[in-house]
Amino acid sequence: MTARERVAAFLLAHQTRRLCDECLAREVGIDPSTAYRAAVKAGRSGGFIREYGVCSDCGESRLVTCASR
Ligand SMILES: [Zn+2]
Repeated sequence: MTARERVAAFLLAHQTRRLCDECLAREVGIDPSTAYRAAVKAGRSGGFIREYGVCSDCGESRLVTCASR
C-alpha cells in the first residue's frame, strides 16, 4: 500500500477523528513529511477534508485531515 492509501484507509476507519499530519504519521506508522504529502493528496482527491481545526489526538489547533461524510 502507498502512504496515501494507508492514510486514506486509516481516516475512513476512524471517521470521527480529525488528525494533524504529525499524529496521522504516528498512527499510520510513516514519517511526518510523508504523512503531510499523503494528506495533501488525499485532500485533493476528494472524500477527505483538510482544514484548520483541533487535532483529535494532540489537541493542538492546526491543519487537520478527516474523512468527509
Ligand atoms: Zn495532532
